[in-house]
Amino acid sequence: DSFSAMDIPEPLLTHITDSMKLEKPTRIQKMSIPTLMSKDNDLFLHAQTGSGKTLAFLVPIVARILRIEGRKDRKSGCMAMIIAPTRELASQIYSVLCHLTRCCHYLVPCLLIGGERKKSEKARLRKGCNFIVGTPGRILDHLKNTQVIKEQFASSLRYLVFDEGDKLMELGFEETINEILQFLYSIKLDTSNFPNLPSRLVHVLCSATLKGGANKL
Ligand code: AMP
Repeated sequence: DSFSAMDIPEPLLTHITDSMKLEKPTRIQKMSIPTLMSKDNDLFLHAQTGSGKTLAFLVPIVARILRIEGRKDRKSGCMAMIIAPTRELASQIYSVLCHLTRCCHYLVPCLLIGGERKKSEKARLRKGCNFIVGTPGRILDHLKNTQVIKEQFASSLRYLVFDEGDKLMELGFEETINEILQFLYSIKLDTSNFPNLPSRLVHVLCSATLKGGANKL
């Protein structure tokens, strides 16, 4: 019933307990952290806002990445993509991820939410990042128009997270998400790299309900 019983590697464990001052995992974290850390199956997280769902998927993903032997930095490729329905939610997830990766500065998240930021987003993608957090339209835009992206994913992408899946569908992102999936599935993933990461692309779907079309995801 504690984070220390979960096999979370240092320096992440100490960061969670001492810097973020979290005492014990929430109900959803108790289920998701050991599962995503030890299995490579797709996972449905039935979780409301406020349940601790953001850390429920971010902690095990960062934990797995920390276990990679040898070099891991922004040039190692993008290992996880997190898709959220709104700019606000994407920014919130990004800020939690920035906080979480303070214990391992070599891991770099990138936020793709559009607006006036396209050029700086592109520059950041070109420099390389380990996580992409963003909204569907802007992610698809970069997938189509930012040349380096394919190479950055080919040997590294292992996690695809849909946050608030019910809202993604309610807001009409089905078509955009299908295009993102088509793009990602068209990349020949080389999963021989990084033996500590899953040997396939793992999908995580968070949703408060399976209504609103989230079951289509
Ligand atoms: P979320 O459901 O991801 O939006 O998180 C809701 C709030 O719960 C956020 O303010 C988190 O910082 C907080 N939180 C997440 N995990 C824990 C935990 N294990 N213990 C206490 N608070 C937490």
